[in-house]
Amino acid sequence: MLNQNANRQGVNRHTRNRALTGRVFNIQRYSIHDGEGIRTLVFLKGCPLACLWCSNPESQKAGPELGFIRSACKGDDGCDAPCVAACPEDAITLNVEGIPIIDRERCTACGECVEPCLEDALKIVGKQMSVAQVMDEVEKDRPFYRRSGGGMTLGGGDPLMQHQFSRALLEEAQDAGIHTALETGAYLPWDDFEPLLHHLDQLYVDLKHRDDAQHRKLTGQSNTLILSNLSRLLAVMDPKDVVIRLPLIPGCNDSTENILESARFVAEQGYKQIELMPYHTFGVSKYPQYGMEYPLAELAPQSAEDLARLRQLVGRFGLTEISAQA
Ligand code: SF4
Ligand code: SF4
Repeated sequence: MLNQNANRQGVNRHTRNRALTGRVFNIQRYSIHDGEGIRTLVFLKGCPLACLWCSNPESQKAGPELGFIRSACKGDDGCDAPCVAACPEDAITLNVEGIPIIDRERCTACGECVEPCLEDALKIVGKQMSVAQVMDEVEKDRPFYRRSGGGMTLGGGDPLMQHQFSRALLEEAQDAGIHTALETGAYLPWDDFEPLLHHLDQLYVDLKHRDDAQHRKLTGQSNTLILSNLSRLLAVMDPKDVVIRLPLIPGCNDSTENILESARFVAEQGYKQIELMPYHTFGVSKYPQYGMEYPLAELAPQSAEDLARLRQLVGRFGLTEISAQA
């Protein structure tokens, strides 16, 4: 009888989980980053932070957004701009060259303008999907997971913004025997965060700045909740399954003092693994697509010598430095 009840509860949970929906902005297959082996990366919309260097600006808002790819648009080269008439909100006008200008205040991201554009210059980012739909995608690569030790990684945005959806995805993957990983900034009250940890094989947590005032300046939020979560995490997870990541943004958080203070804090909590993430500009070209401006001036990435020096600093605390991923 006890077994029957447990089975029934398991089936009910599975049914509930699979029906749950969340906002996904990308599913990337065959990745060799962000976890063991070959992985399917599921990127969820929404982030509680707004890091100045964000490489996924389209992920920050929780809702769907319209992206406009200027280089694909033929408004100045023969296109009659059917996008303008398609918009029920009058959110698109044309500049003197015939190129659309999108009024982001008016745009509701309804997507009506996307199909009329034959050049694929318009797209909606952020699709409502059920756990069942995401898992169908993830399951497609099961043979690769088996051979490589890979699995599913949740990223974003920050998957904790949709923590119930994330938890359901992790539970379903775990029940299906698929390795699970999650990347996060750990900005969520512990009582909501902790249940997810029981369904994770690997966890990557960013620490953006050790100093609270600087953290607020760079991300828009205090680091108090993040540090508090970091001080509790190892009560639930094994240190070998957690990597603390330090994004290195030139002139913002890569000072000797901040790297030393961050590494000291990480080591004091009992973590063993740290990853230094060199600065890159991969996401800069995406900003104009969403009517945004990249808030940092062009910054030169750290030199090999700078990185070697920073690696030496974290080495002082007995932390294993995981190689940064391209
Ligand atoms: S997404 Fe909808 S509201 Fe926004 S510009 Fe296109 S048609 Fe207009
Ligand atoms: S329909 Fe497409 S290609 Fe034509 S003007 Fe609009 S966005 Fe540009």
